[in-house]
Amino acid sequence: MTPRLRINKVRLLERLDEMARIGALEAGGVSRLSLTDPDKQARDQLVRWMEALNLTVQIDRVGNIFGIRPGQTGSLPVMFGSHIDTVSVAGKLDGTYGVLAALECIATLNEHNKQTLRPLVVAAFTNEEGVRYASGMLGSAVYVGELPIEQALDMRGVDGSRFGDELQRIGYAGPMQPGAIEPYAYLELHIEQGPVLDRAGQTIGVVEGVTGITWLEIIVIGAANHAGTTPMDMRRDAGLAAAKVITYLREITAALGEPQRATCGRLSFEPNAINVIPGRVAFTVDLRNPEPSDLRRAEAMLREYLQKVVAEEGVKIEVRDLEHVQPVRFDPLVIGAVERAARRLGLSYRPMISGAGHDAQLMAHKYPAAMIFVPSRDGISHNPAEYTDPNDLAHGANVLLHAVLDLATRH
Ligand SMILES: [Zn+2]
Repeated sequence: MTPRLRINKVRLLERLDEMARIGALEAGGVSRLSLTDPDKQARDQLVRWMEALNLTVQIDRVGNIFGIRPGQTGSLPVMFGSHIDTVSVAGKLDGTYGVLAALECIATLNEHNKQTLRPLVVAAFTNEEGVRYASGMLGSAVYVGELPIEQALDMRGVDGSRFGDELQRIGYAGPMQPGAIEPYAYLELHIEQGPVLDRAGQTIGVVEGVTGITWLEIIVIGAANHAGTTPMDMRRDAGLAAAKVITYLREITAALGEPQRATCGRLSFEPNAINVIPGRVAFTVDLRNPEPSDLRRAEAMLREYLQKVVAEEGVKIEVRDLEHVQPVRFDPLVIGAVERAARRLGLSYRPMISGAGHDAQLMAHKYPAAMIFVPSRDGISHNPAEYTDPNDLAHGANVLLHAVLDLATRH
């Protein structure tokens, strides 16, 4: 152990600011949807930084980026990182913080000429957010073999673009086979994106698992007709049917209790006109629970209710499965390394379950993995107002550094 080794806070903050200028929005915040021009610029910047730190850069076939630092032995490497794509209107920390803190760890080790037994790999996974291509954590899902490469490349974006074409266009369709670098352990540092640490006044979340997620698209088909001449009892109003379903989401969470979550985040009406009864409505449902059986129960309740609405409103309803992510328990060895690092650094910490999806949960299906959280002020995220105290950003990066060193010196 090198107990006194610390990352350079100023350098970490400078890199975060520089990255936040790529895809910066006039009204504040950043927008770097996966495989857009801003995402390409951010990738180029990341690769330049990796090369400047003497990392060997490898890009895989779905655009995941890896920066490799050799170890003293050829044993399996410790991989750590996150993602640099963002939601449409984002803050500057989500994902990017984990990748740039990983770079900062490498910079610190280089500066102190500190070698590790195991190689180190900084990772940035493609399309974690799943906004443009509706498959969150796409890069890590392909990496662990849960999403076939060809299926990922053929995916259509919300703007009609093809994933594989956009990947080619920005120059990040690499030659490496996903999964070719097999980590001994995977670690991901991330802002909490929730209010728990902030409220408790604690610095480090030792993340022991991730909640399960079900993403559905629900399409309601009624009949578009005149808003004035169609009597109320002769309507097949897709808008009303959708409203009933969305309202029912609260009844699902009430029935199942904490920590069940249910959200409708996207909705579109057709023809979307003031004097026309909606003929078709498409909306999404996001269900989350860390217990597999409760998550299944929530989905079953929703599907049962859809049948009721079909009968009541005379509409047709189709359900498309966009994503099912099983809840995950992280690996005790990696969790232990995080906890030891926080304790040795004298930081307050608590065990947590993540309510958001992360690449670490996909990696955990195949490799020992865990996560580190730092506080998000007021729990705000996916929003330009996303903020973490710079000292906490530094603390998180130091925990990452020491947890990685712990793992990288293990046989
Ligand atoms: Zn993220």
